[in-house]
Amino acid sequence: MLEFLAALPECSQVAVPPASEAAMRYYHSGNILWFLGQLWSLGVPLLFLWTGFSGKLSSLSEKWGKRWYFTIVIYLVLFILLTTLLNFPLDFYAGFIREHAYGLSTQSFGRWLGNYGKGVGITIIGAAAFVWIFYLLLKKSPRRWWLYGSFVAIALSFFMMIIQPIWIDPLFNHFGPMKDKGLEKQILDLAERAGIQDGRVFEVDMSKDTNTVNAYVIGFGSTKRIVLWDTTLEQMKPDEILFVMGHEMGHYVLHHLWWSLAYFSALSFVTFYLIYKASNFLLRRYKNWWGFSNLTNIASVPLFLLLINVFSLVTDPLSNAISRHIEHEADRFGLEITQNNQAAAQTFIVLQQSNLANPRPGLVYKIWRSSHPPLGERIDFCNSYCPWKQDLPEKYGKYFRS
Ligand SMILES: [Zn+2]
Repeated sequence: MLEFLAALPECSQVAVPPASEAAMRYYHSGNILWFLGQLWSLGVPLLFLWTGFSGKLSSLSEKWGKRWYFTIVIYLVLFILLTTLLNFPLDFYAGFIREHAYGLSTQSFGRWLGNYGKGVGITIIGAAAFVWIFYLLLKKSPRRWWLYGSFVAIALSFFMMIIQPIWIDPLFNHFGPMKDKGLEKQILDLAERAGIQDGRVFEVDMSKDTNTVNAYVIGFGSTKRIVLWDTTLEQMKPDEILFVMGHEMGHYVLHHLWWSLAYFSALSFVTFYLIYKASNFLLRRYKNWWGFSNLTNIASVPLFLLLINVFSLVTDPLSNAISRHIEHEADRFGLEITQNNQAAAQTFIVLQQSNLANPRPGLVYKIWRSSHPPLGERIDFCNSYCPWKQDLPEKYGKYFRS
């Protein structure tokens, strides 16, 4: 068996470069920062609950708002502004200071702050537009709100996926057609081979923000598109970009957005049910400390946030494992359609170097934080997967048009 394997042709022989000293510092300090961030995301809601401050904030909102809906909106605006103030030092350090220290960010302070402000504004608008629905369900159906609430959450995430590329992302960056028409033609030819007729490829001016590289698929139906960061176009060679596009087309053709939504739906039911159980239990025990006695009181927002954060910490390993599987299959699709293992492996070296990545992260990092397979494993796969050279069937050959 081993002799048989040894006789197979090698697909490519690209060595995984060792992580640079800066990449390892970025990795280790990033782990500490992630851990602090997790503690903070639990600590802030706990602070609002155990000081009784959330209850007081709710009474104040009721006094000012008078009507049910306005009470909710005033509470949410105050809550979001106060938590933004509390989070600001950590966000500023992680998003601006640190990224500049490692030469990853190209943002001016003004642009960073402007984007941060826009993010807070969008959160406030989204909260004012949608959170009341959950509180209405809590009021009308104390035993079943978790079920109806998860339906609403699924519908909202679907809605967000549709509008994000057309209403939200353009608030931060400019999305336009590809400038390099020759390369665009090659990409559209590849898309046609992948069976994508209505392929839309956008180039986004991320060089205003960062030196790192990326590409992704976003949207649903008529808003679905592939987005390429201009940094990727600058730093990668055409055949490498074609592999990246092959990977993204894999997400497109294999309906990965639908699979992700299906997973999110299942997760949503489970999480809502657990939140329903846990929130009633905790409120019965601690209502005297917290200063409110009913979940329908908007003061329960930090309790729900706390539970969401706890449950996502528990479910993240599964979410990441599913995401890594999907990404691995997109890599396979990209390799099969381009059949250029050398270029594919090379893209991951560019990713590693431009994004200061550790190609072989530790187990805890992989389980809790890796939504993509570690770059070392992706390069290993490029070096070893080429069924078309070995007279073996391609897994996704049936999707390709000649
Ligand atoms: Zn991907």
